[in-house]
Amino acid sequence: MKLRKFGQRNGHQVPRLSIGAMRFPKDVDCAVALLRDAIDKGLRYIDTSRGYGESEWILGLALKHGYRDKVILSTKWSPWITKIAESDNSSSDCVRRRIEESMKRLDVDYLDYYQVWNIQSRECYDKAIAKGGMVDGILKAKEEGLIGHIGFTTHDSVENLLIYIKEADWCEILLTTYNMLNTTYAPVIEAAHAKGIGTVIMNPVAGGKLAEQSPVLMELANKVGAVSVADLAIRYVLSNPNIDTMLNGLNKTEDTTHSIASVERGAFLPAQIEIINRYLEKIKGQVSAFCTNCKYCIPCPVGIDIPGVMSCIQDARYWGWEESARTRYGNIKGDKADACVQCGKCEKICTQNLKIINEMAHAVEMFKEI
Ligand code: SF4
Ligand code: SF4
Repeated sequence: MKLRKFGQRNGHQVPRLSIGAMRFPKDVDCAVALLRDAIDKGLRYIDTSRGYGESEWILGLALKHGYRDKVILSTKWSPWITKIAESDNSSSDCVRRRIEESMKRLDVDYLDYYQVWNIQSRECYDKAIAKGGMVDGILKAKEEGLIGHIGFTTHDSVENLLIYIKEADWCEILLTTYNMLNTTYAPVIEAAHAKGIGTVIMNPVAGGKLAEQSPVLMELANKVGAVSVADLAIRYVLSNPNIDTMLNGLNKTEDTTHSIASVERGAFLPAQIEIINRYLEKIKGQVSAFCTNCKYCIPCPVGIDIPGVMSCIQDARYWGWEESARTRYGNIKGDKADACVQCGKCEKICTQNLKIINEMAHAVEMFKEI
C-alpha cells in the first residue's frame, strides 16, 4: 500500500489503512495469525490501549519474531477512562507507571506513540496539560527514549477541540471518529491536518454497521460504483484529504483483504462524493428529525434507555439494518420500550422534538418477538 506523511510533526509515513486493536477473536493463536497477516499485507500503524482487555498482551505475542520492527506501535491510557488502581490520577508519576506497565504487557522496550486517552471535556484537557500532569509525564518518557511521540484521542466538542488544536504544540497525532454517517469532526480533522498533526480516525465503518447488508445503502453504493457498503464507507473516508489513516478492526483475514482492496480502488471523485452526500441528506430529509443521542431525555422515570431504543428503531427503519438493530435492542439493559407509561417527560425536553411515545410503541411492534 502507498504511504503518506503522518502529519508534519513526527517524521512517520503510514498507509491509509491501519490496525485498530480494540477487539480480537477469542482464540489467541487466531488473533496472532490475523495480526501478522495484516502486517505482512502492509499495515503498519497499530492502535491499542491499556484499557482494551488483553489487547496489549496479544500484540506482545504477535510482534515477536521480527514483527515489532515492521510496525508503528501506539498505546494510550487516562485515569478518567480506566482506573487500573484506585489511586490512579492524571499526574506525571501515574502516567509513567502506566507507560512502563504497557511496555511490559507489550513486551517492548520502546513505544512509538503514547496518547492521552479520550480527552472528552475541558476539564480532562486541563488535567492532562497541567504542570506535573499526564502530558509532562509523557514528554519526560519521550526525553528518556521510552516513547517516540505523543498525541491524544477525543470525543470532546468541536468547539473545544478547535481551541486545543491551536494550543497543543506538544501534540503530534490526533485520533477521533469519522465516517459516512457521522462527519461531525470534519472541521477538527481539517484544522489538525493544517497544523501538521497526524490524523487518525476510528469507526470508518460506524462500529461495523457499514459492513452490514443495507438495501438502502447498497443502492447508493451501486450509484457510485462501490462493490459493497463497506467499500463505499472506506472509500468515503479515503476521499477526505485531511485524514492520514483509518483504524481497521481485525475479525477475519477476508476483512483485511477487502479493506485493502477498497483502499486500492481509491478515493471517490468530488462529483461522486456529492452524489453520496445528496443521497444521505435525502434519506435524512425524509425524516423530520433524527435522534442525535444528546441524552437530554434521560433519565426516564421508568428507566428506559431512550436514546438506545431510538437508535435501534432508526437503524432498522431508515438504513435497513434490521438484524443488528434487533440484536442491540435485545441487549439493552433494564426495561425496554414496553415499560413506557407515556408520562411525556422525555418529549417535553427532546432537543429534536421527537414523538418519543409513538416511537416506543413502534419499537414494541418492531421488535416484538424478542
Ligand atoms: S414517555 Fe415513556 S419513555 Fe418518555 S419519559 Fe415517560 S416513560 Fe420514559
Ligand atoms: S432528547 Fe431526543 S434527540 Fe436527544 S437523545 Fe433523547 S430522543 Fe434523542
